[in-house]
Formats: sequence, structure tokens, C-alpha cells
Amino acid sequence: MIVLYAFLGILSLGVLFVAKKTIELKNGRKKAADDRAKMKIKKLTAPGVVKSLTVLPLIDFYADQPDLKTEAGVSYLIRTDDATILMDVGFNAKKEHPSPLLQNMETLGVSTSEIDMIFISHAHLDHLGGLADQKQKTFSLSQGPVALSGIPVYVPVPIAASHWNPGPKNHVINDPVVIEPGIVSIGIIHRFLFLIGRTLENALAINVEGKGIVLIVGCGHQTIERIIERTLALFDAPIYGIIGGLHFPVNGGRIMLGPVNIQQLVGSDNPPWRSIRESDVQNAIAAIEKVSPKIVALSSHDSSDWSLDQFRRAFGNAYLDIRVGKEIVI
Ligand SMILES: [Zn+2]
Ligand SMILES: [Zn+2]
Repeated sequence: MIVLYAFLGILSLGVLFVAKKTIELKNGRKKAADDRAKMKIKKLTAPGVVKSLTVLPLIDFYADQPDLKTEAGVSYLIRTDDATILMDVGFNAKKEHPSPLLQNMETLGVSTSEIDMIFISHAHLDHLGGLADQKQKTFSLSQGPVALSGIPVYVPVPIAASHWNPGPKNHVINDPVVIEPGIVSIGIIHRFLFLIGRTLENALAINVEGKGIVLIVGCGHQTIERIIERTLALFDAPIYGIIGGLHFPVNGGRIMLGPVNIQQLVGSDNPPWRSIRESDVQNAIAAIEKVSPKIVALSSHDSSDWSLDQFRRAFGNAYLDIRVGKEIVI
């Protein structure tokens, strides 16, 4: 009898929790839609261009060679003719020092002294260097000291460098902004997710001379449809490439708790019984096809192998795998 009461008690708490979250979701989604509508997006008058662009994945779920570390997080080294940008700093789920990021940098011959700026896409643990950083609203390249000089850090919400890597100066950027000629943050796109709540994410748009805009995306919580819409509103140039995470843990995921696909549950703005599904992947593919990019590269850190395969089939020769150590040359 006691077992039955305990079971019913837990069940009721579960139902209450889901009911509370579902109400929050309804209100949060409305507020996010209002906030999106409030943003005044104008064509950029002088976005500038870069002559060259490469993207070297330093952290992702798959690697190009066995001596590189992998995890369900993101860090990309973006190099233009003028600037070297570290976008996001990985997950470091095991709280290591040196972190997988630092180990891969060492293996790939990349020094922290090369980095001119850091761009944090959003405040989730797999992009900030771990759960403690997410809680403390900081980011860490490793769980030990890493010397970074006073380089700028561009963040969508207040996030400071942790005590492990003091020095960088953070700049909160909400609106679209030209960071340097040809290097643009497209600005936050408001979203409200089940469990995680309000999520503000930035993406980079690099304007490559003679080619067009290359979008580099962290987790893609904005939805690629809205990222494309924002990009077309900001630039006259065509979208040449889409690189990064689009969050499609469909028919599998990278963080499983028993049968529960955590990424599918937390990354959706629908309740669990209507979370991210196959039709969302197909809708995203259709939205990308409309702008005919020459390069589409999906991150495996927040998408399943099934989703990667859908993109591979849809984009054929334009599709590239994002693998740690495999440089994408635009
Ligand atoms: Zn992510
Ligand atoms: Zn995320």
C-alpha cells in the first residue's frame, strides 16, 4: 500500500511539474514572439567584406582523426584574412585540465595567443565549457589557468570570463552589429524552450568577397528559418554557406538518459509530446534549399546521425561533415 501511495505521489508531482512547465511555455512563447516582433531589423549599410575564410572545428561530436577529442559541444576557430575568432569554448563535461578544447588545439597546432576575439553564441553548457559556467554565467576554456589577454568577447547575454581565464572584456550584443568589416553578428533571436526557458542566441555572418554570406551557427535554437530570414533582411548578398548546429536530435541524440533523449526534450519550444520531429528536419531542409547555399555543414553535436543523413542526401556535393580537425575552406 505504501508503495502504491508513493507511486501515486510521484506521479502527481510529475503531472503537476509538466502542467506548470506547459503553462510557462505557452506564456514564454508568446513573450518571445512579441520580443522578436519588437526588434527593428534594418539592412546593414556598410557590412564590409573579408577576402578569405576558414572554419576549423576544435570541438564537436565527431573528429577527423583518432587522436582528437570529441564531445557533444562546440568550438570553432574562424580565420579571415584579418581576424581569428574563437566561437564557443566546448563542453568539457569531465571538467578536465587541459580540456578537450586545449588538447585539440595543441594537437592541431593552434595557440591561444592567435585568438583576436571570442564569440559566444549562447549561454548553454556545451558552448560555455561546462555546467558550472552555465550556472555562474561565465565561460572557461579549461578547468585550469589559461592566459588570455584583454581580447574582446562578444556575448548575447551577460557572460564573463571565469577565474581560469581572466582578462577578456565582454561586450553584450543584442542587435545586429558589424564587429569588424565583413564580420557580423546577426543579433539575438528570442525563443522560449521547454525546461530551459528563455534562450537568446547569436550567430555569425561572414561576408566573403565574391561569394556571399557564410553563416556560422552554435546550437541553432533560433531555428534556421528565422536565421535565414534575419540574414536576408540584413544583407543584399546571397547566402553562400550554412555551417554549425541546427539542433535536430531526431531518431537519436547525443545526450541520452536511459531512453530519454535530453537534447530533444530541452531544445524544443513545444511540450514533450510534440517535441522536435522528422517534419521539422524536412521543413529546415526546404527553407535552406530556397536560398541555394553552396556549402551546408551540419554539426553532429546536437543532431542525430539520422538528421545528418537527411542533410547529406538533400544537399549532395554541397554537404560537408563538421569534424574536429577538418578545416572548411570557403
Ligand atoms: Zn549546443
Ligand atoms: Zn544550446
